Amino acid sequence: MLPHPERFQIDFPILSRVTNSGAALAFLDNAASTQRPDAVLQAMDRCYREYYANVHRGIHTLSEASTEAYEQAREETRRFLNARSRCEIVFTAGATAAINAVARCWGDQNIGPDDVILLTIAEHHANIVPWHQLASRVGCRIEFVPLEDDFTIDTQRVSQMLAELRPKLFAFTATSNVLGTDFPVQQWGELARAVGAVTLVDAAQAVPHRKIDVQQWNSDFVVFSGHKVCGPTGIGVLYGKETLLDEMPPFLGGGAMIDTVTTSGFTTASLPDKFEAGTPPIVEAIGLAEAIRYVSAIGMDNIHEHERQLTVQADEGLRAIDGVSIVGPRPDQKSGIVSFTVEGVHAHDVAQWLDTRGIAVRAGHHCTMPLHASLGISATARASFYFYNRADEVDRLIAAVHEVREKFA
Ligand code: PLP
Repeated sequence: MLPHPERFQIDFPILSRVTNSGAALAFLDNAASTQRPDAVLQAMDRCYREYYANVHRGIHTLSEASTEAYEQAREETRRFLNARSRCEIVFTAGATAAINAVARCWGDQNIGPDDVILLTIAEHHANIVPWHQLASRVGCRIEFVPLEDDFTIDTQRVSQMLAELRPKLFAFTATSNVLGTDFPVQQWGELARAVGAVTLVDAAQAVPHRKIDVQQWNSDFVVFSGHKVCGPTGIGVLYGKETLLDEMPPFLGGGAMIDTVTTSGFTTASLPDKFEAGTPPIVEAIGLAEAIRYVSAIGMDNIHEHERQLTVQADEGLRAIDGVSIVGPRPDQKSGIVSFTVEGVHAHDVAQWLDTRGIAVRAGHHCTMPLHASLGISATARASFYFYNRADEVDRLIAAVHEVREKFA
């Protein structure tokens, strides 16, 4: 456990507010979006107040300063992911935008009517719908690796499906946003490569919580969102191997992504500008870089271990309540996320009751309707942790779910 997680209260002004019910906030909705420390807010504020101008276009002082900070943010992100080159880091509007860009640019060029795309049933809609849309454009087939009875995905089954289906693409989440399971990205990547499949890893729930090394993963594409790692909304990252990004056509057309434009056509800029048409999220990139510096200073291994301990505490405490079912594997197979149902009580009512106790959790299908359908449920309540959460907040969660049982059951 991180020593004194309460010290983060000082860094995160929002965490010391009370909720509408008058109770102190216990923010356990971090899988949806995290909060921002003062350092991030100040870095963005400083940019707007002191040196903001559009990037890449001017030769005046402010534009040079903005450009330098924007490109420094790219370098910070590269280092965080251990990407080989800054050309492999494309700033997007978020994880969803990044997956859509791959589906359009790589998918349209490389997937045909006889091809298969393999996903897992645990995917967020962001890693399903763009492939459905691609399928409706090119006529390919989408297959899903199912969940086992213990809420895990069996690597043996992944291996079999890869061998039988020979997909062109295996796109999967590194960490399920409902089950909390950390999947073996490197191992699945090796299996996929062995059958010639390209891999896309949705790391939206992984990058904020554990050390990621994209070269060790050896994945072709990796995506994440800034707002889930204490950064601002409106920015995310598409990591792609340089050779693949080089071969792909640009996603959006406009300024900044071109080398030349004539009345009869255009030529594209080199990487990564080719994929960053228009004015990019300049201040958001600067905020993201500050967020990366902030979590890196705490240490990704420390963050992961702290969340693991909160997860064990929550999982064991909730499992022990009569009528509560955990939707996910045992705590040693997951991190940071505990989803659950309460017999006879809708998840929305659970979340609403917890809110009266100042506890913020999410309820619903969490953008994973196929996963919920495969489990035969329509909704779960989900508590999700970050480094600033404390053991006493988990105690409050468990106590409040006991109250739900007493009040509603
Ligand atoms: N993938 C996973 C696993 C997620 O949990 C989310 C968001 O909850 C996304 C993708 C989409 O992220 P965004 O909405 O920031 O694009």
